[in-house]
Amino acid sequence: MGAALLADLARLLGPDALVQGPAVREYLRDSTEMQGLFGAADAVVAPAGVEQVQALVRWCYERGVAMVPRGGGTGFAGGAVPRGGVVVSLERLRSIRTFEPELWRMQLDAGVTTARVHRTARESGLYFPPDPGAAEQSQIGGNIACNAGGPHSFKYGVTRDWVTGVEAVVAGGELVSLGGPTRKDVAGYDLRSLFCGSEGTLGIVTGAWLRLIPAPPAQVPVLAAYGSTAAGVRALRRVYGHGLRSAVLEYLDAGALDSARAAFPGGLPADARFLVIAEADGDPAGAEALAEELDEALAGEALRVWVMREAAERRDLWRWRGGVSFAVRGRRGGKMSEDICVPFDRLEEALELGEAAGRALGLPTCSWGHAGDGNLHATFMIDAGDAAEVARAEQAARLLFEAAIELGGTITGEHGIGLVKREQLPRQLGEAAMRLQVEIKRAFDPRNLFNPGKKVVLP
Ligand SMILES: Cc1cc2nc3c(=O)[nH]c(=O)nc-3n(C[C@H](O)[C@H](O)[C@H](O)COP(=O)(O)OP(=O)(O)OC[C@H]3O[C@@H](n4cnc5c(N)ncnc54)[C@H](O)[C@@H]3O)c2cc1C
Repeated sequence: MGAALLADLARLLGPDALVQGPAVREYLRDSTEMQGLFGAADAVVAPAGVEQVQALVRWCYERGVAMVPRGGGTGFAGGAVPRGGVVVSLERLRSIRTFEPELWRMQLDAGVTTARVHRTARESGLYFPPDPGAAEQSQIGGNIACNAGGPHSFKYGVTRDWVTGVEAVVAGGELVSLGGPTRKDVAGYDLRSLFCGSEGTLGIVTGAWLRLIPAPPAQVPVLAAYGSTAAGVRALRRVYGHGLRSAVLEYLDAGALDSARAAFPGGLPADARFLVIAEADGDPAGAEALAEELDEALAGEALRVWVMREAAERRDLWRWRGGVSFAVRGRRGGKMSEDICVPFDRLEEALELGEAAGRALGLPTCSWGHAGDGNLHATFMIDAGDAAEVARAEQAARLLFEAAIELGGTITGEHGIGLVKREQLPRQLGEAAMRLQVEIKRAFDPRNLFNPGKKVVLP
């Protein structure tokens, strides 16, 4: 890191804002680290407040210095991994500015963690449904930047559906509020939505307004295990076909189950090769009635069905589900997980094509994810220290992306484009749509200083 740059930034923001020494390393990677992604930065700063973010952006914009916004670093697409420039961590912007439970809304700093939002809402009987894993680390600003989803997105939608306003620092250091506490707003183009999923390439999110809902008093998971993928997918289709409004509709395939089987809270049949997780929620009588309907829809061909009525069972289930990614990684020391998303009716084909991609490159595969949304975490299990294997996994991922596009789906349903999928984007979008994307990037960031080289690469 250049001493002159550090001295300038210390003068601008105060020495407390500089991250230095061994701690810097933590800011050069995100959860994509397994793919060998590790960055380099000229400086790492953690501004103390919105005005400091503005001063920093103004300063960087005048001098042509690139900025890489950073939340909790849990992203899976290398979005927060710097390729030079200044890493701007939002970790010190962590106030809940206003929480008005009686109005079902919250205004907060971008650096507040997802888990804190969940807990704060819950304590007042309210619910913020977006639930990406790693909630203790990921921040609301990062969730907005990735438009994060999670299991409960099946019924409740993704982050964008729960954000009524975004406060951001844009080119030149100006502060803009896109939306606010108002629940409906169609004035002008929808820049609030544009920021959701912008991956730090249009500006730095410093705050947000969230809408909340009364928490469903009852939440009853219903699980079913099957002897084959085909039987499991038929059961998923029955849930759709019967019109059952499950809050989640998740799946794990045989490889994912084998990785996480030992810790499963409920005794998985030895021949289980596919697991479906649904959840009934609402008032207790409604949730119970739906749980029974889900039980009936899932039971055909199932080896076993569980209806988890005890709060402790549900807590253990979701804790186990949160650990699946780590259990899979534990199998071979590394993994490359993608997040393609296909129309629901193409799910089985997508599962097969994921396995075929792994087979073609000689890599063990598995997958799990948000079946109801057609969103697969197709995963190639690798030895992360073996460069040749990492390269083979990248090749397999390319096959997978092609398959997703062929099936009428997308190369990313949740994690974003970041660094790792930027070459694939033009192929999915086509020339005309890609040109519009480039023009949007240029309109917001004429000097290409917000997270350059990520998501939409300027020609
Ligand atoms: C175990 C595990 C499970 C996960 N499960 C899910 C899941 O179910 N669903 C899902 O959608 N994701 C999931 N993720 C991915 C990740 O948690 C989400 O994408 C999350 O929203 C990223 O938030 P973050 O604060 O960690 O962002 P970071 O990783 O720090 O950054 C991600 C991107 O957002 C940008 N960014 C961050 N903060 C800001 C800001 N304030 N302003 C502008 N840009 C910003 C960065 O530049 C980067 O491009 C999972 C990750 C892990 C490790």
